[in-house]
Amino acid sequence: MSTIKCPYCGKTTEVSDENLNLRDGEDSIVECRNCRRRFIATASIEIMFESYKADCLNDGQHNWQPTSTSHRAFTLMRCAKCGEEREPTPEEKERYDIPSRQEYFDELIRQNGGKNKKKQK
Ligand SMILES: [Zn+2]
Ligand SMILES: [Zn+2]
Repeated sequence: MSTIKCPYCGKTTEVSDENLNLRDGEDSIVECRNCRRRFIATASIEIMFESYKADCLNDGQHNWQPTSTSHRAFTLMRCAKCGEEREPTPEEKERYDIPSRQEYFDELIRQNGGKNKKKQK
């Protein structure tokens, strides 16, 4: 079912898609259910875009947010506006309490298999 506005009476009329030529730019003859006049309907398929501001793409500041990862050591900073990702800076690591990857690996080694490895001291 498609709803088409009648150019004569201005009311919308429902037309079964079987009676319409749905190819882009092709004409169909439609009879208005309200005023019974006939008119031509042309299919026009539009792709709709949603748009939103991304100031960081226009000399503005990125809105960096820490990503949530399986382990905090792998946290990246992602811009909530444009989706760009980068490594956190040392200041951000401190602010968001992100451990370094070396600390993470050290922790892993300590947790499993640490006993088998030679300890570096
Ligand atoms: Zn009409
Ligand atoms: Zn951005």
